[in-house]
Amino acid sequence: QGGQPDTAVPEWKRATQSKDISYGKRTNLTMKQQREGLPVFKFRTQLLDAVRDNQLMIVVGDTGSGKTTQLTQYLAEAGYANNGMIGCTQPRRVAALSVAKRVAEEVGCRLGAEVGYTIRFDDSTGPETKIKYMTDGILQREILLDPDLKKYSVIILDEAHERTISTDVLFGLLKKTLKSRSDLKLIVTSATLDADKFSEYFNGAPIFSIPGKIHPVEILYSTQPEEDYLTSALDTVLQIHLTEPAGDILVFLTGQEEIDTSCEILHERMKALGPNVPELVILPIYSALPSEVQSKVFEPAPPGKRKAVLATNIAETSLTIDGIVFVVDPGFAKQNVYDPKLGMDSLVVTPISQAQAKQRAGRAGRTQPGKCFRLYTEAAYQSEMLPTPIPEIQRQNLSHTILMLKAMGINDLLHFDFMDSPPTNTLLASLEGLYSLGALDEEGLINRLGRRICDFPLAPELAKALITSAEMGCSEEMLSIVAMLSGAQTVFYRPKEKQQQADQKKAKFHDPHGDHLTLLNVYNAWKQSNFNNAWCFENYIQARQMRRVQDVRKQLIQIMDRHHHRLVSCGRNTVQVRKALCAGFFRNAARKDQEGYKTLVEGTPVYLHPNSALFGKPAEHVIYFTLINTTREYMHCTSAIDPKWLVEAAPTFFKVAAGLSKRKKAERIQPLHNRFAAPDDWRLSSQRKQGRGG
Ligand code: ADP
Ligand code: MG
Repeated sequence: QGGQPDTAVPEWKRATQSKDISYGKRTNLTMKQQREGLPVFKFRTQLLDAVRDNQLMIVVGDTGSGKTTQLTQYLAEAGYANNGMIGCTQPRRVAALSVAKRVAEEVGCRLGAEVGYTIRFDDSTGPETKIKYMTDGILQREILLDPDLKKYSVIILDEAHERTISTDVLFGLLKKTLKSRSDLKLIVTSATLDADKFSEYFNGAPIFSIPGKIHPVEILYSTQPEEDYLTSALDTVLQIHLTEPAGDILVFLTGQEEIDTSCEILHERMKALGPNVPELVILPIYSALPSEVQSKVFEPAPPGKRKAVLATNIAETSLTIDGIVFVVDPGFAKQNVYDPKLGMDSLVVTPISQAQAKQRAGRAGRTQPGKCFRLYTEAAYQSEMLPTPIPEIQRQNLSHTILMLKAMGINDLLHFDFMDSPPTNTLLASLEGLYSLGALDEEGLINRLGRRICDFPLAPELAKALITSAEMGCSEEMLSIVAMLSGAQTVFYRPKEKQQQADQKKAKFHDPHGDHLTLLNVYNAWKQSNFNNAWCFENYIQARQMRRVQDVRKQLIQIMDRHHHRLVSCGRNTVQVRKALCAGFFRNAARKDQEGYKTLVEGTPVYLHPNSALFGKPAEHVIYFTLINTTREYMHCTSAIDPKWLVEAAPTFFKVAAGLSKRKKAERIQPLHNRFAAPDDWRLSSQRKQGRGG
């Protein structure tokens, strides 16, 4: 299989025998020894002095030097947690959770006691919590409710080099908070070399560098462009396994599906190589993976065995896996990209930047000299890759962020202190989106509905649909749908070898009106089974995801209660549900075209996904939840609608063409999306009424 040379096997054996002892040693280290072995430990006193002397500082250090796990503990040990928590933000949910777990272990407490985490819909912290890890999105919500962040004594904006929208917005907001709270400390950490830029932005804040102990990493490039990076990545893994000395392998792939498939292929190929080849422990890691499975990647491989970790770019800087000696870097990552012209957000596989490529390579040199196999040419690295990634704020939909800033009374977005300003087009498109959603008034200021939308930790469209459903008498149903859409990527279980059975089971839930009601059917059937696990198993539904959905649903009910939105069921009258969905998702409307659909707003071709309940029986008009861009733009979660609901839902956005027959009218519903596209317009700086409602 794969043309691997037979002679490779003995070489590997020789290598393992001489080297794997060090693994055993590593695990025998006590927690204390492990902590004291980290590069940051030598700088403990200096760091604490610097924090004492500076309200704000920037800490730079290679990944794995101990910034995330140790800084919080040093600060707590030095007494900073005595009057307020030490908060540490992470761009990724998995990182917040996994790091909190690790630190709780190091501290020797139960997770959720002195050390806890908060991520959206999942809060483990309690009254004793002193060290709190959270996503930057959570802190962004907290600062909306309390601009002074009175609960905290120190904030660490960790992994700031990732430049997520939330971190970027927090930069600007925390600058203000520091002025009003002279006792608050802020530490911004970065794994890369943007430190100077950070320092400049933060009025010349001091930079504290932690020298890493990086071993040399040999970089190997492909000699010509790879046609299929996945195949060549897996070939490379096997080649390393069979020909290179001991040391674990880390492969960077783009997403869950790709990783799962690759794990299967690798297992198959290893099996085909027969029993004489040393075992390869194949482990996936990505955000959606259950945390017990995630923890496995941190365990050392058993003596004599080699570990191959297949990861998303989560392993670039957020998580550190010890023992990696070989890195396989195909040079791609999935990025959420927003096209303001099309008004669409989609996940697209994009080439990484040179900075990311360096980060990835660096992962190979943490314990000993390593090798990085770049599956692209040196010329491509030099001429096709950007030096650094484009910050999220310049490539994503900002409606959620803008609404939050407006809720805080920040209306002058053009002059907000962004480190890198978002493109004016994106700002305009997002503002216009919020206006048509009814969240902003004619002056561009947040109105009552906008504030109610802000109460929910949801995309504005989902929040609007939920609020509308309470008015339309179907909030029980909408709660289930919204929870299904935000609590889980998918609840359907579709293993490779049993796809047909799984699809048959799924089809039983299909609603003739589409996927939203199909999700409702699944939730209701599960409820009918008394939330039974065996029921899930029989129906190819992921029980764990369903429990999460249930949990999200409960939390949404609390918010509904707090803000006096009615909880009502429409029973069988589910047409109300689809109408209420239109109130949030009217922009995502599409009309049947020859082979697929065309969006009403821009006329972009989009397609029904083969797993849609509507597949094979397409409706004339539909709305969808999101687009997934794989081979073509697929609508994800699609439902049939009556186009006149669009006019009811968004009268400022759609108009019915006059003077036509009823049928013609239905066909001619036209969006008015360009009405406010004048560049010199009120929405960017409405200082006139800034005082109002702030
Ligand atoms: P940095 O933030 O500087 O990248 P970290 O504090 O995340 O560094 O990691 C320091 C060390 O802590 C890692 O090298 C690893 O040994 C250990 N570590 C971190 N997270 C975990 C975890 N979830 N499980 C086991 N060990 C971990
Ligand atoms: Mg870190």
